[in-house]
Amino acid sequence: MTSPDLPNPQVGRPLPAEAGAPTAPKACGQCSLCCKLLEIAELEKPMGVWCRHFVKGRGCGVYADRPPACQDYQCAWTWAPLLDDRWRPDRAGFLIHPVQAASELEIVADPSRPAAWRREPYYSQIKTWSDPANTSVSVVRVRIGDRVLVVFPETEIDLGLSNGRTGIRCGYERKGGKLQPYARFSDGDEA
Ligand code: SF4
Ligand code: SF4
Repeated sequence: MTSPDLPNPQVGRPLPAEAGAPTAPKACGQCSLCCKLLEIAELEKPMGVWCRHFVKGRGCGVYADRPPACQDYQCAWTWAPLLDDRWRPDRAGFLIHPVQAASELEIVADPSRPAAWRREPYYSQIKTWSDPANTSVSVVRVRIGDRVLVVFPETEIDLGLSNGRTGIRCGYERKGGKLQPYARFSDGDEA
């Protein structure tokens, strides 16, 4: 999260290899979409609504004093060379970041453009990340507000509202002699 005229520092964190090795960070430019889409606990800011400190045309109105969550945040577009300018979140209509120790990818959709991730070139790439045959990403999830979908190469499974649950168990199970994708929230599962 940055002001339009200041590049963010790069945040070191493990990344799925398929997103590309981290490079020099791209500057956020006119994008401020994370200031709308993300929950910021320090500000009691819920997901999907503009932060009260966001100033249209200027960016963060408290940049020097923004909370650590804002200082540390870098969406995948800023560091993943695979994601070209078409993927800048304000242009794409969603942001991407790794979750669950970077084994999962989360696509956070702008609630005012909930289907933007289904357009090309995004949809094909998101499907590629979801394919266990060619990726190390264990789960690709799409978040639209509190609603969560899990992406598989052949379908998506809508888990409904997360209500604070973050863990997801998914994969394939045999049903009627055929392998079928399944997904469910795993919070509360036995270890
Ligand atoms: S969504 Fe990404 S590119 Fe946009 S302001 Fe936030 S960190 Fe920068
Ligand atoms: S404090 Fe600034 S950087 Fe953080 S969400 Fe609000 S406007 Fe964005």
